[in-house]
Amino acid sequence: MNKYLEQLVQLSKYDGKISAFEPQIENEKAKLSVFLQTADSISTQIDAAYAEIDDLKSKRTKNNIHLAELKTKLEDISKKHHDVQNEKELKALQLEEEIAKEQVSFANEEIARLDDLTVAKEEQLNELKAKLEEEKEQISELQVAVDNAIEDLNKDRNNVYQQRSVLLEQFDNKILTFYEKIRRWAKDSAVVPVKKQACCGCFMKINDKTYAEVIKAEEIINCPHCGRILYKEVETEEA
Ligand SMILES: [Zn+2]
Repeated sequence: MNKYLEQLVQLSKYDGKISAFEPQIENEKAKLSVFLQTADSISTQIDAAYAEIDDLKSKRTKNNIHLAELKTKLEDISKKHHDVQNEKELKALQLEEEIAKEQVSFANEEIARLDDLTVAKEEQLNELKAKLEEEKEQISELQVAVDNAIEDLNKDRNNVYQQRSVLLEQFDNKILTFYEKIRRWAKDSAVVPVKKQACCGCFMKINDKTYAEVIKAEEIINCPHCGRILYKEVETEEA
């Protein structure tokens, strides 16, 4: 194979590898983000549960204040019994007392209901807290794995960069400019193999004459359709 072509094939492979690292790194980070989102959603639910419990407790306090008022009222009514002058006054007082007692029992029922709700909410809160702890543990375990994987990927990437820069030292400037020009639009497929007599960049069939030249590999041949640099892959490397 032409020496320049050989270098181009190699350079293109390095560039392809380098481009593939970023999505791999993103993929590693994405593994963590699912867990972080779950933890975030649990935290929001915990905040909401705290707010609901606060609300229930403040309602309970209001009922307690109301109960104290009713107690005072009932005491007053009981004192007034001594001063009752006639049947009419007695009936009015009894009615007032009845209403106040009803209100007391209603407030007590309401307090019991609020207490039940609070207990249920607190149970739910504890479950959420346990779930969050579990999630946090998984996150810190996963964080280590993700950090390690990213570190490995960065090491590999630096190795490829290193190999690439060694290769570039031997490169002819004109050939490199030529490659970069195609790469500007073809990205990582500036240099592509020919498979089944078709360009692997644009997938169009190439004519016999060009194909024969590609197989000879004495010169740098461009795809007549798209302009990418073509080469014939050695059989063992072919998929
Ligand atoms: Zn092509």
